[in-house]
Amino acid sequence: MKKGKFAGEEEAGTRYWISAPYFCDFCFMFYDIIVVYINGGVKMKIKLLGTAAFEGIPALFCRCDICQESRKLGGKNIRMRSSALVDNKIGLDFTNDTLAHIHNYNLDFSVLEHLFIGHSHSDHFNYYDLEAKLKWYTNEGNPVLNVYGNKVSIEMLSSYLEKFGDISPYMKLHVLEPFTQTKVEDYTVTALPATHITDFPEEKALVYVIERNGKRIFYGLDSGWYYDETWEYLKTIHLDCMVLDCTNGFAEGGTSNHMSFKENVNVVKKLTEAGSLNASSKIVSTHFSHNGKVVYDRHCEEFAGQGIIMSYDGIEIEV
Ligand SMILES: [Zn+2]
Ligand SMILES: [Zn+2]
Ligand SMILES: [Zn+2]
Repeated sequence: MKKGKFAGEEEAGTRYWISAPYFCDFCFMFYDIIVVYINGGVKMKIKLLGTAAFEGIPALFCRCDICQESRKLGGKNIRMRSSALVDNKIGLDFTNDTLAHIHNYNLDFSVLEHLFIGHSHSDHFNYYDLEAKLKWYTNEGNPVLNVYGNKVSIEMLSSYLEKFGDISPYMKLHVLEPFTQTKVEDYTVTALPATHITDFPEEKALVYVIERNGKRIFYGLDSGWYYDETWEYLKTIHLDCMVLDCTNGFAEGGTSNHMSFKENVNVVKKLTEAGSLNASSKIVSTHFSHNGKVVYDRHCEEFAGQGIIMSYDGIEIEV
């Protein structure tokens, strides 16, 4: 048990004590008593900036029923390409819509220091826009941006930036292998292998577990049914929030690249049986495609019926 001095950033689940003078009405005496606090812990928040697959909803060049209905309904039915932000400190993916997200949510990425990339697809890694971090497009004195990703993604970025010379005052690049753990202040980010095919056979797509003070958020976009090694890892930890790929929505069957609603339900079932999820875990489906035939206003109740939050752009989940 630690002696307390409470700054609002105490360790989760830790008991603290302080000594304080106490006047007893019966004895008419002062005592020094110990006050024990059981701290509820520091919260961690993930904000989903966008919640669509590559093509967006409505899709760029589409007039299908889902796109038409979404256009008409507006609001939560309109989805931009997926990316997320944890506590305004850790960026997850850097999409074609990142600038629009910065404008829509009034974000300041000049102070962002850590960006984790899932894989090289453009809806997750629009590396061209990272040129804007270099000196011609920014101002001096901002912190260096650390970009983490698999070998293929980082090599793509580094060869694109080569022509600009020394980027070290602006960006630092880090190659992650599956199961690498990265410390970011008091966060630990674990990269896990995702079942996802890209243009590069050697590429190992990644999904992430972000941990802080015993709380964990899984961010698992662009993954089909997980590899055995990913399941094994997930079964060893408790997850307070799971953000799941639901690209295929209500389309029949999943694919090796993406999950459907049915598969999201099965992930929850399997990890609940394993004890990794419990009633307080928050499950969120995201990365929707119009081909998955989902419309927020029409289907959020159906997701809720299975204990799953159907995401929308800008949703914030706190654990
Ligand atoms: Zn994607
Ligand atoms: Zn469409
Ligand atoms: Zn992808």
